[in-house]
Amino acid sequence: MELLYHLLPDTTNLQLKRWQFDKVQGTITLIVSAVQTVINCPVCNHPTHRIHSHYERKLTDLPWADYSITLQLRVRKFFCINTLCKRRIFTERLTSVTAPWARRTLRLAQRLSAIGLSLGGAAGVRLSEQLGVTASRNTLLKLVRSIPLPPIVTPQILGVDE
Ligand SMILES: [Zn+2]
Repeated sequence: MELLYHLLPDTTNLQLKRWQFDKVQGTITLIVSAVQTVINCPVCNHPTHRIHSHYERKLTDLPWADYSITLQLRVRKFFCINTLCKRRIFTERLTSVTAPWARRTLRLAQRLSAIGLSLGGAAGVRLSEQLGVTASRNTLLKLVRSIPLPPIVTPQILGVDE
């Protein structure tokens, strides 16, 4: 169990509750939740600990050997207790683990982005299948398009040839 904990995408913000191993399907499901008990409202930044509700979110993570990994994440919704705030309820964000609405972890998305960036759509799909991180051509290209461009730096000194 301790080994599994160390393989989580964020060992400081996530705690491993239990896990399920399915040898026939070749899957490992890790049931995890966030550690933090006090969360800041994303609108007013006021801290709160008042939980409104929970829901489950499934995220595909990097495979371990020949097993596909799914994080079954218990996500909490909180009340904002600041009476002056417009937001009454908000969902906790785990920015070190995944993007809002994503169905995969950040580190899997980064791996797929690197494959897509190096090989493009069709060849990237073939390699990702070999690596056990299957994604469609459109997904690879969408991930590549979402990579932020490097900042444009204006040179301080221009030479004659420039
Ligand atoms: Zn608020």
